[in-house]
Amino acid sequence: LQERLGRPGTRMLDRLRQAQDEDGRVDAEDLARAAGEFGWPVAAVTGSATYYADFAEGRRGRRHVRVCEGTSCFVGSQGQHIALLERALGVRLGECAADGSASLQGVRCLGYCYDSPALLDGELPATGDVLGGLFGDPLAAQRRTRPGCAEPLKMQAAQIPYASMVERPVVLAGLVGGEESWAVWPGVVTAGSREKIMNEIARSGLRGRGGADFPVAEKWSMTAGEPAPRYVVGNADEGDPGSYGDRLLMEHDPHRILEGLALAGFAVGARNGLILVRSEYPTAADRLRVAVTQAREAGHLGKGVHGSPVDFDVEIVVGAGSYVAGEETALLHALAGLRAAVRARPPYPTSHGFLGRPTAVNNVETLAAVPWIVRHGGTAYARLGHPDETGTKLVCLSQRFRRPGVYEVEFGVPLRHLVEDLGGGLREPYQLRAVQVGGPLGGFLTPDQLDLPLLAKALTEAGAALGHASLVAVDSTVPATAILRHAWAFAAAESCGACTPCRVGTRRGVELVERLGEPGHAAAALLDHEPLLEVLNVASLCAFGRGVAGAVRSLLRVYFDELHQPAATIDGGE
Ligand code: SF4
Repeated sequence: LQERLGRPGTRMLDRLRQAQDEDGRVDAEDLARAAGEFGWPVAAVTGSATYYADFAEGRRGRRHVRVCEGTSCFVGSQGQHIALLERALGVRLGECAADGSASLQGVRCLGYCYDSPALLDGELPATGDVLGGLFGDPLAAQRRTRPGCAEPLKMQAAQIPYASMVERPVVLAGLVGGEESWAVWPGVVTAGSREKIMNEIARSGLRGRGGADFPVAEKWSMTAGEPAPRYVVGNADEGDPGSYGDRLLMEHDPHRILEGLALAGFAVGARNGLILVRSEYPTAADRLRVAVTQAREAGHLGKGVHGSPVDFDVEIVVGAGSYVAGEETALLHALAGLRAAVRARPPYPTSHGFLGRPTAVNNVETLAAVPWIVRHGGTAYARLGHPDETGTKLVCLSQRFRRPGVYEVEFGVPLRHLVEDLGGGLREPYQLRAVQVGGPLGGFLTPDQLDLPLLAKALTEAGAALGHASLVAVDSTVPATAILRHAWAFAAAESCGACTPCRVGTRRGVELVERLGEPGHAAAALLDHEPLLEVLNVASLCAFGRGVAGAVRSLLRVYFDELHQPAATIDGGE
């Protein structure tokens, strides 16, 4: 499709954003102008503009606030923060004030799960107590009487607590271990060999950290075996509510990711790398862009890097609001400025990827581990973790924990170590009811299941999933139907719509939860879940539909007793 379209569309989403910034909306004139500039049919531009949440939600106010509807924010306030924010701003969620002064957009998620609830006012974050203070503030009543709430919020985002539990940190090396980025790249381009890098990555056993768990060496060698030109892509579309490790890496150690991408490019024989960053992470996108400029100035990127015959450069592309864009075929569409719809595989991106060319797509946490492996050797890396699942993983603990934050741990540690020793259990006065592992496509576990190891295989067998290794603590004050409604609402909002089982099935799920509250219908609504989940599981085109089915199944299992109480009792909980 891209070959038929004309100019490559890596700047298309920015072009639509520019139009939106000018007068708050993307209208027909903007679409026609962008189509003319890019040599695209207007229909293709319209397809993108109507797909992405950032453009499709309509007019933006002069002040645009994005409020997080992710799971940690939901658990932290059970959605109350949104209602309160609507009153404070004088505008409903998803709407713009009549005078254009303010608009409010719901997003999942902003990546501040350690200090929920969270919002972005423009590009400035406000989290936790600051946000809570706004609502409890006596001035809040006055603000509510004023249309548009022109008074600025006090902006603050709590510092991310992060720590390595590994003797020699791998992914957090530059943050806690002082290991410099770009330490191995000059030597590799001037005297290294592609085979040696491939061998070290193969020896390390490194697997994709974005949730797919695919062996990196295999993906790289498949890409390298295809004809040039080839591409390498960094997936920075960290959309899983509960995960914020990628944001941490991009904001605080972007050069480690760039070096990893450059090494990947060298290994597969690619001259171009791209990173897709979600628009909900504006600071991360800025830091990566600055880092690319710095890396060019230092001679790490560009033509003939460090006097070698190697050319390699990186382009940063910012998304526009789509959870499914994290799926690699959807991500490749988003990079090209198209709708982030999933496509059937095969062919795989390793042969038919960006612009139809061979492409290796890796999550940014995966890429951040590559320089360490090349420097210290794949064998040293493989000694970390578990024999079947080697190395380290960033684990994100949510706000309800006493010590929330990002921790680098070895694979195989028991979840109980993460929850109790690192997280310190739940803060007073909350009691742990369930842990959501691996985000909305992962699963829920009971406190009794915390002796499970942090391993993809073990978690899958237990009805959960490793995913991006987020742990969201759900306390006992959150009603079962509320968390079930939250799960289905997420699925319905984020389904890309490419296949019927997921597009329609997720909406049926929302309807089933509504029926749970109707007298006499609760039992049937619970029974009707199973055939719906089976259809989602067996007939969905991508892992999203299957993941939703698994996550909801685990939720029904963990909350079985509460959900099978009489409807009046269930509703009384909310
Ligand atoms: Fe899109 Fe859902 Fe189908 Fe995946 S399963 S292709 S997200 S509609």
